[in-house]
Amino acid sequence: MVDWSGGNDTGPRPRKDAIWLCEAGGDPEYLRNRQAAEARLAALLAEARDAGERVLIGFDFPFGYPAGFAEALTGRADPFALWDWFEAALEDSPRGNNRFALADRINARFPGTGPFWFNGGNADLPHLPRRDTRAGHGMAEHRAAEAGIKGVFSTWQMGGAGAVGGQVMTGLPVLNRLRRRFGAAVWPFEPEALAEAPAVFVEIWPGLINRAVKAAETAGGIRDAHQVRLLARALATLPQEVLEGMLAVSAPEEGAILGAGQEAALERAARLQPPPLQNDCFALPPGVDWTPVDEALALLRDRLRPVTGIETGDLFEAEGRILAEDLQARRANPPHPNSAVDGYGFAHAAALAAAEEGAVHLPLHPGRAAAGAPFQGVLPEGAALRVLTGADLPAGVDTVVLEEDCAVDAAGLAFRGPPKRGANTRKAGEDMQAGVRILAAGQVLRPPDLALAAATGHGDLPLRARLRVAVLSTGDEVVDPGAEAGPGVIYDANRPMLLSLLRRWGHAPLDLGRIPDDRAALSAAFDRAREEADVLLTSGGASAGDEDHVSALLRAAGAMTEWRIALKPGRPLALGLWQGLPVFGLPGNPVAAFVCTLIFARPALSLLAGAGWQAPLGREVPAGFAKRKKPGRREYLRARLRDGRAEVFPSEGSGRVSGLSWAEGLVELDDGAREICEGDPVRFLPFSEFGL
Ligand code: AMP
Ligand code: MG
Repeated sequence: MVDWSGGNDTGPRPRKDAIWLCEAGGDPEYLRNRQAAEARLAALLAEARDAGERVLIGFDFPFGYPAGFAEALTGRADPFALWDWFEAALEDSPRGNNRFALADRINARFPGTGPFWFNGGNADLPHLPRRDTRAGHGMAEHRAAEAGIKGVFSTWQMGGAGAVGGQVMTGLPVLNRLRRRFGAAVWPFEPEALAEAPAVFVEIWPGLINRAVKAAETAGGIRDAHQVRLLARALATLPQEVLEGMLAVSAPEEGAILGAGQEAALERAARLQPPPLQNDCFALPPGVDWTPVDEALALLRDRLRPVTGIETGDLFEAEGRILAEDLQARRANPPHPNSAVDGYGFAHAAALAAAEEGAVHLPLHPGRAAAGAPFQGVLPEGAALRVLTGADLPAGVDTVVLEEDCAVDAAGLAFRGPPKRGANTRKAGEDMQAGVRILAAGQVLRPPDLALAAATGHGDLPLRARLRVAVLSTGDEVVDPGAEAGPGVIYDANRPMLLSLLRRWGHAPLDLGRIPDDRAALSAAFDRAREEADVLLTSGGASAGDEDHVSALLRAAGAMTEWRIALKPGRPLALGLWQGLPVFGLPGNPVAAFVCTLIFARPALSLLAGAGWQAPLGREVPAGFAKRKKPGRREYLRARLRDGRAEVFPSEGSGRVSGLSWAEGLVELDDGAREICEGDPVRFLPFSEFGL
């Protein structure tokens, strides 16, 4: 991607408005004039040709003018006739170019004034107005492709901040030479040549990914450099069919902007995307029979990584979302010194000089300083001014006295003191300096975090895309809640539970319904999950029985590990990858499914989503029960606190759904043997620790 420039940089150091070039995956290169850029592009094209590679190059200026211009200037409605005309007429060197003279010459051939305007040179030109006083030239202001795009400049404007006219005139001759020399096809003028040409030139406009660029700029750097880097990444990572759709445009005379109307897709592709998970990420150490819970958790924590992409989101909608990158203060808070109270402001030194016997008398200056309505001008030394809370301190004020501490009449005011220098004022940046890190990547945004980001100038935030989690239930016996149910049939309790857990945790659940105990149906559902989700949670069919197709499928895919975890209630838990899609095969029993989801799936999903690992914080409470526990496995009991003691549900049967709803947390009993008597300390994990 190339960010062109109509200006000239003769100095040694990078300037923001010279030419920037970036290859996908590389670093932006600074090219300080068009001659350097042409040489670099020629080298790049030659290198690609010699390597037998095809290359797509984007330039950020229009390849054509509004319809009718080519014909008026060259006699042919052919954009390349225009390119030839400019190549012949433009004189360009690092010391200067004749673009304004050329615009003047062209204007002379049109009726009225225009179509070009803006003369950035010293010499007056008879046909090129300095300001936009054009009339009667007969050309449209914009190309059809520019309709509805915010912020595009017209090709007729030859200079001024953001203008593109000079870039077109100085850019087209370079493109014309390069396309001849390397046989490049120009989009969208040569649609038949795109598929085979060794190089394709496209028109781009970084304004389409403005939000991604702004987000990148918060970390510093030059805007144009970010633009070419992010656009190169976007076009290189766009799905093939999306890029092909963008290229399928007809604009044979005026040209068009690649990706216009598909800003969201471009923006998404511009952001850094995480690599896929490794195929062995659920592998367990060989020879281990029962994996302790802590070891299983450590493995997950170690091997999983965020899989969600990064997008830009509106701050107002960002509650509960995950911040994707560290956030810096865009400006200081407060931005200026201001008053912390309603009162009177003055210069401390003058008040000190005026103090007699502990009292200060100051004349009152007319006017006032209020929040949003600053006092213009300088307060005369030795006077006081009415100031209100939040008002910027005017020049001449460094201290404020509280209004309750003053006696005031028409002529002036009196107060005890004076108070200390700087009293009742807030210093610029005393809360936060511009540029400091205010929030860390991975933060799940809470209301106060939004206040913080807003106060330091953020309107859009870099966010993780929501983790898409597919959920399905297996079992021929399972029917939907509320359905007609004959004998041998049970209602699906797991799916509604899992889907609502996921919503609570801020993920995007996808309901894949009930899948019968049938290998082909399950495999089709897995495929769909792989297409539409980032993770899959299944329940049922996870052990090694005849009808346990979840584990059988994953095992056949070669990426299944049967996690025999030393956990009650819980086993079996199957973890595996289905062509890169992480699958959590939860047990069918609702109690076991619930406990496994809280203990294993929740922290793992949080990590995959980009919010880092989450461990619940328990607290020791006296047991309100007695129990003898066998060694060799961790146990979780449905529990609740009453009178400061942990009660547990009378039955530990893992099919007992009643106990789930009865409970308000879990009691966690460690892996070893234990004899618990009433009043002994046990670890209680309230459901709130699991985000419930
Ligand atoms: P499975 O793991 O498929 O052998 O299932 C274990 C037990 O959980 C069986 O009694 C199933 O009927 C039951 N079960 C499986 N899926 C669900 C579900 N979605 N809701 C309620 N119970 C289920
Ligand atoms: Mg089953």
